[in-house]
Amino acid sequence: MDVWVDKPKCTGCHHCFDVCPVAVFEMRSRKDLAAANADNAPEAMKWTGKSEQQVIDKWGSVQDGHKHFADESDGTSGGISVGVNGSSCILCQACLIECEGECIHITDDTGTTYQSVYK
Ligand code: SF4
Ligand code: SF4
Repeated sequence: MDVWVDKPKCTGCHHCFDVCPVAVFEMRSRKDLAAANADNAPEAMKWTGKSEQQVIDKWGSVQDGHKHFADESDGTSGGISVGVNGSSCILCQACLIECEGECIHITDDTGTTYQSVYK
């Protein structure tokens, strides 16, 4: 399985990190471009330091108890998600329904692709 995150859409909500049973995701600093781009996201979806305006408009002012678009993780939210361990993915799809930014992409071994849709 290959798992990667469309970085400009990631809010840093930690939901993927929290629900994944096999630790596919790590939360990284938004200030460290190399670390934030350590999965196989295609060039147009890599982190360049700028979030997508449409996602900021949707989530930037939402008060739901966790940070959005913070540079660093405080252990509960913030930072940016990276699919560092896609080979362990068991396709449980928990992350796909929890992802605020609808920005998780998974490709299985047959080439079938899956993308997150927020419930
Ligand atoms: S679908 Fe894969 S990456 Fe997503 S939560 Fe399940 S095991 Fe983790
Ligand atoms: S669930 Fe989606 S928006 Fe939230 S941190 Fe993970 S990839 Fe980013």
